[in-house]
Formats: sequence, C-alpha cells, structure tokens
Amino acid sequence: MQAGEFDVLEGLERVPLALAETARALELIDHHVHGCYVDEIDRAAFEESFNEASTDPIPAFMTQFDSQPGFAFRRWCAPLLGIERHAPADEYWAARAALAPADLDRRLLPHAGVAHWVMDTGFSSRPITDPAAMAAESGGATSEIVRLELLAEALLAGGIAPADFAEAFRTEIAEAAGHAVGFKTIVAYRTGFDIDWTPPIEADVTAAVTRWAAQGTTAPRLVDPVLEAFVVHAAVGTGLPLQVHVGFGDRDLDLHRANPMLLLPLLRRTDVQRTPVLLLHCYPYHREAGYLAQAFDNVYFDIGLGVNYLGAQSGQLIAESLEIAPFAKQLYSSDAFGLPELHLVGSILWRRGMAAVLGRWVREGEWSEDDACRVLRMIGAGNAQRVYGL
Ligand SMILES: [Zn+2]
Repeated sequence: MQAGEFDVLEGLERVPLALAETARALELIDHHVHGCYVDEIDRAAFEESFNEASTDPIPAFMTQFDSQPGFAFRRWCAPLLGIERHAPADEYWAARAALAPADLDRRLLPHAGVAHWVMDTGFSSRPITDPAAMAAESGGATSEIVRLELLAEALLAGGIAPADFAEAFRTEIAEAAGHAVGFKTIVAYRTGFDIDWTPPIEADVTAAVTRWAAQGTTAPRLVDPVLEAFVVHAAVGTGLPLQVHVGFGDRDLDLHRANPMLLLPLLRRTDVQRTPVLLLHCYPYHREAGYLAQAFDNVYFDIGLGVNYLGAQSGQLIAESLEIAPFAKQLYSSDAFGLPELHLVGSILWRRGMAAVLGRWVREGEWSEDDACRVLRMIGAGNAQRVYGL
C-alpha cells in the first residue's frame, strides 16, 4: 500500500509500529463487492455513481464531488492519476476521463491490497467487469455470490409452469452452489424485512407464482413476500453463506423496513441457525447488526458502503463497529460498485480507521499490540476465509 505514491496511514497520530505495518500490508478479503464499469461514462454518470440514495440526476446547483467520497477520491486517487492530492474536481475529472476504463482499473485496483474479491455478479444497468476481468485488472483472486431474486426472475422469464417453479428453483440453487461461495438476497429492496418468514408450503408457492406469471411482464420482478420467504429458505437449505442487504441503499428501499432487528423471526429459526447469515452494509443500523452478531452464532456483519460514503468521518463508524460484536463476527467489505475509486478508497479508509482506533487503544494501554494486529487480520481476512471456506 505504500508503493511510493502515498502512505495510507499518513497524518495519523503515532500508530504503534507493528500495527502500522499490519494495517499497511494486510492482504484483505473484500467479502462484498461488485465489478467496475466496462464502458466509458460521462461526468454526470460518474457523479451519480457516488450518490447511493438518489435515483435522479445530480441537481445543477451542486456537484457530487462536494461530498465525503468526492473529497476522498481527490485526496487518495488523484496522486495515482498523476495529479496533486486535493486537485480541484474539474482537474480530477479530466485526469480520470483521459484513461480508458480498463487502464483506470489497472491504475487503482492493485493499490487496494485485496487478495480476494467475493463478487456479487447481480444486476447492473451498465456492463461491469466479471470476476475474470476483475482478477486480471487487480491481481487478486475472485469468487462469486449468486443473487436469489435474479435466479427466480430468470426462471419465470423463461416461461416455467407455476407448478414446476419450486422444484426448478431448488435445482437452480443446487447447481449454483457448485460454483458460487454463497447467495445474496435483496429482500430489503423488494418487501422489507417485516414479512412472514415461515417456509411457505408448495401450494402457496405455486399460487404466488401463478399470480406473478399472470402479470405477463417480460422483465418480471419478484416482490411477493411468500416467494421471498421461499427463495431465502431454499438457499438456507444448501448451508452456503447467505448475504442479506441491510440498511443504506437507494430510495427505492424503505430504509426503516431494512432494519436488521426485523429479521429476528427469521434468525430465531433453528433451521436458519445452521447457515452463516452475513448482514451487508448495515449503516445506519450497524449497532443493531453488532447486537445480532453477538446474539446469534451464525450472524456476521460488515460496514461496507458506509465507510466509503462517510469518507474522512468513517473512523467513527469503524470505531462503533468494534463495540458489542465479537471480533470473529465482522468482515471487511467495500461494497464498491462501478468506480474503481470506491474499491480503492474503501480499503484505504478502513485501514486508516482501524489503525487509528486500535492504535489509540494500544497507546492507552487498553489493548496489547499483538491483539490489535490479530483483530485487524481477523476482520480484514481471517473471518471471511473461515466463513466462505476460501
Ligand atoms: Zn453491494
């Protein structure tokens, strides 16, 4: 991470030596991440790509550069594009736009120091790099996570008979389990978490698919609570890790219904407790997620996405993520999507935040430096290695 261009821990107050070295050099596992845009994008699309919540264009009275991620890009990515740190937004954009997308990826991604990307290959409105391209451009290995809703929607679009749906979905899931390291649900976006989590009986699944098919759309969207419960339980049946989008996302999602406490009826089921459940992002419910990670042996969480969006203020989020959850229950993630800046800055901010907070506890004599290094390695890579069997 030092690589001549910059020191990722620059400006932090006296980080103990061994901890600083671990924070700089640790090879991360980014357990929830997406590919980078394959095609060139214009400035409007670029700025929209680091506003998560709005689905509208950036208004004319402002630039999205004036935000925490915008400032972080200008601080940390600018030197890798051959311009001064904190270069003005127009200059940053010009330097970025001068590079082909793949060249930009190769310029930025290796500096994230990620040894393994666990990629969500689900829906994107623009083409994004697949795991093979990501590996080639970054130098890291890749694994794949399969999205449950996409699998179900593809089955329906393929013209499956409603009575055959349940069996066909279980076959698809079993097949995916052969190559993917886990599944992901975006039930937060579709119904919210406050649904009946009882595994539906076959007849109810067939009836729900019949209603769904009757809508006759060519791009079917799974929004039925019965079918959400069905696909989640089908995935849980494989025993592979299940990722759940939690909290922060775009405004299509009812944020208050994406509070992970609403998952309690699902998490209390003993059949679900045999499968690792990974709560993704979680902000602003990272404290609730930490509670659930303490309460259930099979529940894990991360603070990806939030770290990137909080930028220079992410140190506090990182410190709060180290409150009540056991340290074996948290994983590193960037949740970067589209822009390689996000893959890089996610890693830098996390390394800095962890070094700052753990460094302070070591300096104050609360923690040993060995323990601090060990916890950094657990959250940065070891826990993911264990959960996904990498
Ligand atoms: Zn994501």
